[in-house]
Amino acid sequence: MMKRIEHIGIAVRDLDSAERIFEDILGVPPFKREEVPSESVKVSFFQTGESKVELLESTSVSGPIAEHIEKRGEGLHHIAFFVDDLMEEIERLKLLGYRLISGPKEGADQKMIAFLHPADSSKVLVELCAER
Ligand code: ZN
Repeated sequence: MMKRIEHIGIAVRDLDSAERIFEDILGVPPFKREEVPSESVKVSFFQTGESKVELLESTSVSGPIAEHIEKRGEGLHHIAFFVDDLMEEIERLKLLGYRLISGPKEGADQKMIAFLHPADSSKVLVELCAER
């Protein structure tokens, strides 16, 4: 079962300036900055209620975030839903005909993650995440 929106991922060109903007908006500084080499990103997390905002800056010219910004510019990249059992959710959704585009794999913030194919979900990139 999808428990809640764990975080919203936003693709940015410059993490420092995006952090300043979201610190202004949310009234709190990021609680964590982390690099995920396998995804070619560095990320910042803000806590906002029980959900988070994840800012993602590409660390390479060809990673998924670089490609997203190239095609669509900065902005909303994905919505992540928290689940208790990642494999169980993946199996449930596969049976319903949904495809994964990546994962399950280790993501930022101590999570195991998987992404559904956005063509199957109204062009919204959906991330499923569970505690590692
Ligand atoms: Zn995410």
